[in-house]
Amino acid sequence: MVGSIEFDLIICGSGLAGLRAAIEAAKKNSKIKIGIVSKVQVMRSHSVSAEGGTAAVLFEDEGDTIESHIYDTVKGSDFLADQDVAKRLCEEMPQEIRQLDHWGMPWSRRDDGRIDQRNFGGYSFPRATYASDKVGFFEMQTLYDTCQKFENIEYLNEWFATSIIHDGNKFMGLTAIEISSGNFYQIKAKALIIATGGAGRIYSFSTYALSSTPDGLDMAYRAGMALKDMEFVQFHPTGILPSGILITEGARGEGGYLLNNKGERFMKKYAAAKMELAPRDIVSRAIMTEINEGNGFKHETGVDCMKLDLRHLGDEKIKEKLGGIREISIKFSGVDPADEILDIRPVCHYMMGGIHTNIDGATELQGVWAAGEAACNSVHGSNRLGANSTSECIVWGKITGSLAVDYIEKSTNSNPWPHHLVTLEEKRIYDGIFRGNGDVNPYDIKQELTDTMNEKAYVYKNEKNLIEGLKKIRQLKEQTWKHVDDSAKEYNTNFINVMELDSMFRTAEIVLIGAINRKESRGAHSRTDYPKRDDANFLHHTLAYYDPKEPIMKTHPVTITNYQPVERKY
Ligand SMILES: Cc1cc2nc3c(=O)[nH]c(=O)nc-3n(C[C@H](O)[C@H](O)[C@H](O)COP(=O)(O)OP(=O)(O)OC[C@H]3O[C@@H](n4cnc5c(N)ncnc54)[C@H](O)[C@@H]3O)c2cc1C
Repeated sequence: MVGSIEFDLIICGSGLAGLRAAIEAAKKNSKIKIGIVSKVQVMRSHSVSAEGGTAAVLFEDEGDTIESHIYDTVKGSDFLADQDVAKRLCEEMPQEIRQLDHWGMPWSRRDDGRIDQRNFGGYSFPRATYASDKVGFFEMQTLYDTCQKFENIEYLNEWFATSIIHDGNKFMGLTAIEISSGNFYQIKAKALIIATGGAGRIYSFSTYALSSTPDGLDMAYRAGMALKDMEFVQFHPTGILPSGILITEGARGEGGYLLNNKGERFMKKYAAAKMELAPRDIVSRAIMTEINEGNGFKHETGVDCMKLDLRHLGDEKIKEKLGGIREISIKFSGVDPADEILDIRPVCHYMMGGIHTNIDGATELQGVWAAGEAACNSVHGSNRLGANSTSECIVWGKITGSLAVDYIEKSTNSNPWPHHLVTLEEKRIYDGIFRGNGDVNPYDIKQELTDTMNEKAYVYKNEKNLIEGLKKIRQLKEQTWKHVDDSAKEYNTNFINVMELDSMFRTAEIVLIGAINRKESRGAHSRTDYPKRDDANFLHHTLAYYDPKEPIMKTHPVTITNYQPVERKY
């Protein structure tokens, strides 16, 4: 039996984007009923693990400018960012830092009491606003606390959204499983904000929470919305070995060095001016080039790696400003960075792509917005600068929360509720997955899928590997993994995991097809067979639309306002 509930606004995702959207919507209209649907408890959303900082211009009196933040973002994006969107981000952010401060955010401060900022990759000014090295945790806590002020926000924690219901034109609701009871629900609403985060768990070596799978993206994709620029996957230079947990760029922002096996700070060969604080795509490529040229190290697990040296920062600074990564290094690698050098390697960290939206976060389906990492409003182009993502979540959380309320206030009666679509969805997930048959272990298939992405679509790519990767993913998809061995109704995480895997196939395929089609190197997309950026043929976004057989690929223009593309050097 299908349960039924109703809200005015559903926010799917309780990370930074979802919570900021909820506050804005609740503040704007205390009468509308808001439901936040999240497959994990609020404070387990991946946003809590953001470490290094949130970008904003705060020190105009010391020479920083909004214009410089915009240009750094556009240059960092390798000129694929929509420049009007980058402008919106940079203009909105300073007030959001102060707003968070007023809501209780414990920003790290200077001795004079002003909010402090640290250096981050690709910026011309220290612009990452930080709270020790746990910025996401404190931001989440601040937003979640603030949400408690509003009585019209309800939390559906540990609910797994499965599909979007619409009438071909306009949003009508969601279907979801309440994980604790196993009951299936239709959730009717006038508007939806998708804030389901990134999907970096399609790679096995990844900084992401295990819950960062593409089911949110896939839900939008199956409902007819395009996924944009999915070929651009960011590899953060410093994933610690063996786990891949992140060592924040803040570690280099505070003065950490990268060293090769000759003891050289090799970044001088690749970005003499910015050194270790060049953008992530450049530093990750430099590390892989050094490894390929025999200048790397072997970790005890047999993996190639490079070294990150923080020892010269001193015990006190490490404790005060990098306490979180010190704890991570000791617990997960057995190394105290105050005494020893860390083994690191580029690791899947961010997806520049996501659900195609306009500058306001509106998707192609009426009544649906997307915000945060799940969205692709094209602010990051082909390479995001560190600290610009938490900023994006906050700015577009606010914008979409406000616009969704305007829409709800004006919305008129919808078509009759399409019961048949809910029945179809029930069939898809219960007959097709829960009661599916097969003898192949879905967890083995997931491991193979994510390893394939690591091997075939890592920092450096080429056509041969990408095609092999796509073939392999398609072979895996054909195997009989679509079944759930645990027949329990309550807390059936096996069921959820197999549904997540189902979405991983479609998304991985789009990442690979996008990468095959983009025969150039731009930002995080680096092709050894096409090593140059090719503005004549590829200065455009990629769109992927759903088709049961394979995605329909299209292109979309880039908005260029003030800055014509030039060669990107640091
Ligand atoms: C380790 C790490 C460190 C980072 N550090 C920084 C940093 O210092 N600065 C910076 O700017 N950026 C950083 N980033 C990036 C940034 O943190 C993320 O991009 C951002 O927090 C994403 O927030 P979000 O609100 O979009 O989604 P998330 O916080 O990822 O939350 C996703 C939400 O969607 C829900 N969800 C997903 N699918 C479903 C479904 N099917 N049904 C119901 N709910 C669903 C989840 O339950 C969750 O609540 C970091 C990222 C990582 C991984």
